[in-house]
Amino acid sequence: MILPKSSRLTSEQLAEVSAIVQEFGCRVQPIVGEVRTIYAIVGDERNELMINRLEGLDYVERIDRIQSPFKLMDRRSELANGHLRIGGVTLGEELFVIAGQCTIDPKHPELFFETAEGVKAAGATALRGGVWKPRTNPYSFQGDTRSLDILVEAGRMTGLPIVTEVMEPEHIELALNAGVDILQIGARNALNYSLLRQVGRAIAGRPTAVLLKRSLHMGTIAEFISAAEYIVNFGNPNVMLCPRGTAPALDGYRNHPDESITPLLKERTWAPVVVDPSHSVGKAAYVPGCALAAVAYGADGLCIETHAQPTQGIGDDPKQSLTPAALADVIRQARIIYELRRREPVDARS
Ligand code: PEP
Ligand code: MN
Repeated sequence: MILPKSSRLTSEQLAEVSAIVQEFGCRVQPIVGEVRTIYAIVGDERNELMINRLEGLDYVERIDRIQSPFKLMDRRSELANGHLRIGGVTLGEELFVIAGQCTIDPKHPELFFETAEGVKAAGATALRGGVWKPRTNPYSFQGDTRSLDILVEAGRMTGLPIVTEVMEPEHIELALNAGVDILQIGARNALNYSLLRQVGRAIAGRPTAVLLKRSLHMGTIAEFISAAEYIVNFGNPNVMLCPRGTAPALDGYRNHPDESITPLLKERTWAPVVVDPSHSVGKAAYVPGCALAAVAYGADGLCIETHAQPTQGIGDDPKQSLTPAALADVIRQARIIYELRRREPVDARS
């Protein structure tokens, strides 16, 4: 990782650096952070001669040699100084709450508009709505591209940033062209390295963010963070990590709730953690407790399935959806815990 003395290299400096690393079979990837741009050396960057030559350039402050499978996502990376800001909310300073329907019913836009107004009134800071759905059963409703217009319209009505899941290159393009603010990579695709790369490449140079769900089968924390590294190393660092429960399920829950990995993620990476309690526990009655626990563990945000009329929801998830009124209660309580943690952090060794 090349850290320049100034906030970014000039094009002549970048050309010079690129020429040096190319001699050693590597290439340079600029990563545009909030504070400054840093330059990842992609390839085998351990060559001492190459490092010496780069360190000798008068505009280079230092070369960071973080020995980690996720150099950019690592807490020690210079990117740790950046802050993700979405829709007027800076993650890490204020609780970020994504809420909305699992699936948008293209036949009932009015239901989604009602949900959108409801989540806005409840205090959510971003609106989610599933346009394309990864369904276990191939005969279940798979989503409908026409729902994208409904999501965009609801975003416009409420002024909230919008979130939807993408599963294919075509979805990425459609979502970006429609102005989707946050692309979700779902649990089933979190290990799809090809899709991770495609999303990373597509959002480079844009303000778009990514909500990366944890795969049901990601046993280790490193695997989860490495998946985010695939996206970030194309240049856009706006990634949020989303624990959403793993397999096998804890008896009684939909998955094995994993909000407790929040402090482990925060210890190793600078990325904001946005926990999804809905898919974790799978039943509305259990969602508030899981959401509050996530915030107590230090989460920066929550992603909560909410439906104005849960019994009218299509897709798998009506039973786990909160009503906007219940969401408002959860958000109010979660903000109290969030503020308490910020104001009075407990020193475990005091
Ligand atoms: C969803 O967010 O509706 C969803 C399908 O999530 P996951 O990928 O976590 O199952
Ligand atoms: Mn869902």
